[in-house]
Amino acid sequence: MSTHQKETINGRCVCNKVRYTLELVPEQEGDSKKSSTTPRTTLCHCSSCRRAFGTNYGLTAKVALENFRYDEDSAAPRKFKQENGVTREFCDTCGAYLVEYGEAAADKFRYIMWGTMDEPDRFPPKGEFFCKNRAGWMPKIPGAFQKQEIKE
Ligand SMILES: [Zn+2]
Ligand SMILES: [Zn+2]
Repeated sequence: MSTHQKETINGRCVCNKVRYTLELVPEQEGDSKKSSTTPRTTLCHCSSCRRAFGTNYGLTAKVALENFRYDEDSAAPRKFKQENGVTREFCDTCGAYLVEYGEAAADKFRYIMWGTMDEPDRFPPKGEFFCKNRAGWMPKIPGAFQKQEIKE
């Protein structure tokens, strides 16, 4: 039995057939190990994210796999694995992407498509990856770290 207060946040695709729940464990003072259970939002300017999101960057929130689940009454998502090893799961009715993960993260993390969460503004971006590909008109995010590529 956990001594931490459990809190959840819901998410869904555009047509509402695929739905998920994130279990959040609030970060506590002196408890740095819990940080991985709080969605960690980052931008990614890489070419793969541009294609997948259809915009100039991808925006995802990283959570531990154990804190992510599709709801029991949710339709099963479709999966597509790109040749770079990134798998994206999406609704086969409306086409919205919900989560993505690389091969190394597959059994550890899910990167949640930020806008599919019900209250995404609770999780502002902490950093930016692949800034070498940043669109020329896109400003840096104030207060976020900037990396030229990604390291994992
Ligand atoms: Zn859908
Ligand atoms: Zn990317």
